[in-house]
Amino acid sequence: MKFVDLGLQYYAYKNEIDEALREVVESGSFINGPQIAALEKELAEFSGARYAVACSSGTDALMLAMFALGVKPGDEIIVPAFSFIATASMVSFLGAIPVFVDVGPESYTMDPERIEEKISERTKGIIPVSLFGQCARLEEIEAIARRNGLFVLEDGAQSFGAVRGIVDGPSHIERCRSCSCTDSDIAVTSFFPAKPLGGYGDGGAVFTNDAQTAETLRRLRNHGQESRYRHEIIGLNARMDSLQAAVLLVKLRHFSVEIERRRNAAAIYQACLSGLRQVETPMQDILNESTWAQYTIRVPYRDKVREELLRRGIPSAVHYPLPLPMQKAFGGSGQNVRRGYRVSEELSMSVLSLPMHAFLTEAEQCEVCVALDEVLAGLGEDAMAEVSYG
Ligand SMILES: *Cc1c(COP(=O)(O)O)cnc(C)c1O
Repeated sequence: MKFVDLGLQYYAYKNEIDEALREVVESGSFINGPQIAALEKELAEFSGARYAVACSSGTDALMLAMFALGVKPGDEIIVPAFSFIATASMVSFLGAIPVFVDVGPESYTMDPERIEEKISERTKGIIPVSLFGQCARLEEIEAIARRNGLFVLEDGAQSFGAVRGIVDGPSHIERCRSCSCTDSDIAVTSFFPAKPLGGYGDGGAVFTNDAQTAETLRRLRNHGQESRYRHEIIGLNARMDSLQAAVLLVKLRHFSVEIERRRNAAAIYQACLSGLRQVETPMQDILNESTWAQYTIRVPYRDKVREELLRRGIPSAVHYPLPLPMQKAFGGSGQNVRRGYRVSEELSMSVLSLPMHAFLTEAEQCEVCVALDEVLAGLGEDAMAEVSYG
């Protein structure tokens, strides 16, 4: 069993993918081929955002977005304490200051109630992360941002395709009057291979509804040039390869079905695991439809459980073992120390992500659940009794 099985996915779409790759290779148009504009159009349509700008990675997308928003050295940007490093590291990379906010104990996303106490006159924006595929509490966060004159940049690296606030309608686009990456001032996603919509290498995109911002982003990612060797602004090389766009165009055609399959897989886990004492299953917000980038539970003695699962042939992962403020890169001690990020710390010690992808079988999921049951039972009653999640 694999944690994410990209091989099965490849064989499912092999003919289409091989053909798409061959077309790029034969055309020789590796940079800025027609696949880029085609992908951008499809991404915009799928999400409902007016403009999508493809780029080299989710990390670069964050940097480009902040550049376009005019983030300057010394600006303070509010980010969650519990996320992948790039959410906060790109803030620091631009010379700005990440100001961490703890996450909520149920959603695991930025706690809107903790934001306003962190706002100062140097605060310029908020970067909520739609963690594990479920939208952050964007409406509340956007309201806080509006009151305080701040931008909202949604880090949708894990949530492209997620629905926020479901509206009745037959197709994805009709339902998602509001989707991840659609309505914030600006949003980013990642096409890292293991993300729900993944390429065959690095890739990302920035989403905006503003034509001027989209134009700025297009220049920024391509040496700041408007036409060849005419440079209007200082930019960088953060383009997406034509080959990646070709792969993503194929995968996007199947993405709605894949999201449905991931939702089914999550429902199966939910049904099997809700009976297991001491397993906390992820919150399913009725107003949001997750893409289930990760199916992440909480268990006692997480590291021990993970090791025992692996001995039974079940791979798992920890997203994430250390809250961001405790990372040495941000001046932390490299250890958990209680400093106002209680939920993030508790999560970092108890979260465990189970195998999740669109080609996971029910039999495999059963195997995971049976193994988990066995492992937890093996921990003994005393060990179980100690644990309680606040
Ligand atoms: C994956 C990820 C990123 C970075 O994306 P890359 O394409 O790997 O650079 C940023 N933020 C979050 C929350 C992520 O999960």
